Amino acid sequence: MREKIQRFMAGRYGADEFGKALNIAALVCIVASMLFMWVPALNIVLSWGGLGLIIYTWFRMFSKNIQKRYDENQRYRTFRYRMVTKWDAWKRQFAQRGEYRFFKCPDCRQKVRVPRGRGKICITCPRCKKEFIKKS
Ligand SMILES: [Zn+2]
Repeated sequence: MREKIQRFMAGRYGADEFGKALNIAALVCIVASMLFMWVPALNIVLSWGGLGLIIYTWFRMFSKNIQKRYDENQRYRTFRYRMVTKWDAWKRQFAQRGEYRFFKCPDCRQKVRVPRGRGKICITCPRCKKEFIKKS
C-alpha cells in the first residue's frame, strides 16, 4: 500500500505553503458555513467555497505541472510578504499615534509623518516636494 502511494506520488507536486494556506481557508469556510446555518444563501456559498478550495488543494498536490505549482507558491509568498510588511507598518503607525500624525501626499500618495500639536502647518512631501497644508 505504501509503495503504491509512493509510486502514485512520484513526479507529482505534493504539499507546499500555498497548499497549507488553502487548507486553512477551506477550514475557515466550512466552520463559517456551520455558524451561518440559518442564513441559507451564505451557508451554501461558504460550504461550496470550502469544498472548492479542498478540491483545488488536492488538484495542486497531485499535479504533475511542478513548474506552474511552484510559481503559484512563489506568488503566494510574495503576496504574504507584502501583507506582513503592510501590517507591520500599520502597527508602527498605531504605536506612534500619540506623538505623530500621518498624512498622505495628495500628489504621489507618499506617507508623511509630522509631530502633533503644532497647529496648521505646511508640509513638504519628501518625495515629490509638493507642499500642502494640514492641521497637526
Ligand atoms: Zn508627494
